[in-house]
Amino acid sequence: MAMEWTRSETLALAVNTCTQCHGLGLRIGRRGKASPCNCVLRGIFRACYARFRHCAEKEKHMSKCALEYLPGAKHRSTWGRKDEEYCADFILISKRMLTPEEYRIFRFHFLLGADWKLCCIQLKMDRGLFFHAIYRIEQTLGRTFRELQPYGLYPLDEYFGGSAMKNDPNAIRPSSNVLAFPNPRMEVPLRKVA
Ligand SMILES: [Zn+2]
Repeated sequence: MAMEWTRSETLALAVNTCTQCHGLGLRIGRRGKASPCNCVLRGIFRACYARFRHCAEKEKHMSKCALEYLPGAKHRSTWGRKDEEYCADFILISKRMLTPEEYRIFRFHFLLGADWKLCCIQLKMDRGLFFHAIYRIEQTLGRTFRELQPYGLYPLDEYFGGSAMKNDPNAIRPSSNVLAFPNPRMEVPLRKVA
């Protein structure tokens, strides 16, 4: 059961220079049905992947601190169960959605962090085929992360229920939050003194 995609959502995620949707993020298909552009799906994947890396790095950092300074410390309070769950979900959903061949590429490139050159050597692929596969993987997973019922990974703040933001001031925030901190100069009233 596909979810509804709204223009305001896709507009925020679309790539301005996209030649497919020209920055609108929606494409009108047959029978006038709107579907998200691939640039939107890839944007969703990349946001989820950035969060995955953030959680994984945090975990590494936390266990390192715990090992070095505080044996048995309660680093769990910082690297919460939600981060752990998110990392597990990210991997499990990906494994379920991708073909075994795609998952090999996904694992090597996104989970183990091999760059395209190393991937091409290791997976015996040429550059064009590799990037074609990466695009397909990003699109498949971006759509799944957003449409999965009852709970997708995206939007991230819904997945984390806001708790990660409260606990961790360094947590990745949606870029729209920038708007909450306007340039102080903007506050200067434009009204002239009579
Ligand atoms: Zn597009």
